[in-house]
Amino acid sequence: MTGYFITNVRIFDGTGREPFSGSVRVEGNRITDVGPVTTPPRQHGGVVIDGGGGTLMPGLIESHAHLGFADIMSHELTRLPPEEHMLVTVRNAKLMLDCGYTSAFSAASPKPRLDVVLKREIEAGSAPGPRLRANGPEITVTGGLGDSNLLHVPYHETPTFCWIADGPDAMRRVCRTLAREGVDNLKLNLSGDLGTSSFPSDQTPMSDAEVMAAMEVARAAELRVAAHCRSNDSVRMALRHGIDVIYHANWSDERTLDELEAARDRVFVGPALGITYNLAQAAGQWGVTAERSAMFQQELEVSIDVLTKMRKRGIRVLPGGDYGFPYTPHGTYARDLWIFVKVLGFSAAETLVAATQLGGELMGHPGELGVVKAGALADLLLVDGDPLADITVLQDRSALRMIMKDGALHKAPEGRG
Ligand SMILES: [Zn+2]
Repeated sequence: MTGYFITNVRIFDGTGREPFSGSVRVEGNRITDVGPVTTPPRQHGGVVIDGGGGTLMPGLIESHAHLGFADIMSHELTRLPPEEHMLVTVRNAKLMLDCGYTSAFSAASPKPRLDVVLKREIEAGSAPGPRLRANGPEITVTGGLGDSNLLHVPYHETPTFCWIADGPDAMRRVCRTLAREGVDNLKLNLSGDLGTSSFPSDQTPMSDAEVMAAMEVARAAELRVAAHCRSNDSVRMALRHGIDVIYHANWSDERTLDELEAARDRVFVGPALGITYNLAQAAGQWGVTAERSAMFQQELEVSIDVLTKMRKRGIRVLPGGDYGFPYTPHGTYARDLWIFVKVLGFSAAETLVAATQLGGELMGHPGELGVVKAGALADLLLVDGDPLADITVLQDRSALRMIMKDGALHKAPEGRG
């Protein structure tokens, strides 16, 4: 059997256990052995990789991916023709894997079949990219986040980056359509947003009846549901209906934090703070006025407070999110890990456990994805340096010596593969 014996490495296994020196054996697409042994077994017919004392860790997992976002504003995505759009999406998938991200949980794709087709190509080995849970367009209500229609211009019945569903029947139709097209995830925009919606961040335009209808379809089709929830009410609504992933949660109050804590074994929170952080300091750039920047600064301060409380309460908070805008371009995903450490006060180990082991749970493979142990899927990263001592090393692609996905080398260590 072909395989790899990776030796002379310090192993961070994704569980938070103290890193240890040793070696890892890979056969097929699985890790078959992890241990202190440093010499390859006699019958081992595979390739020996000398890790040079670097850190071997699980591949990173992006919890809020938008591979179809094109580093442009979302309303501009409507003008991107499908042919160009598919190519951009394919390129982003390769870039994400180049950055050491071997799995991606999609938080919406701006056309219904971009993720679905990409996933099929990746799984067939025809295009490089992370393991992908595919999503369709964000689902919103009239006037909600993503409804860019204006009464005086022709109405787009289905805006390309977002689908509008008013009322339970329309919601069921939209969700069933996406399920039919093959998505794994749905994304609902429950709350408003700062400056890009007619409803602000602290309002909740989607109704209980609409969310309930979406969940009914999701359960029948076994889809995971993620939701844009900035307002306090939207977080409570998400919890009430059993939504799996709550994005942002900026304005959660103490009572909502109690409910999140009670549901912490079931629910994930993804703050996706990169946008808020970057726009808080963006005055004068990307058309952001000083006044708007100050509003993001306020939202950032509230979020830091709320997320610090979540960390202390043991709520599963995942790094990653919303890369694909001009102010959060593709390829800068690992900056989110730095934000967790530098801005939110997570330890590097807590951050990396969230980006690996917890990410594996989010992807639907608890215990076999995002961990380095015998029997787990062989998604591995060999890093020159110690990300636990300096998390920014993961932003340096040249420090990623080896990237392995599903037992195959995407990036081979120098002089091999
Ligand atoms: Zn997003």
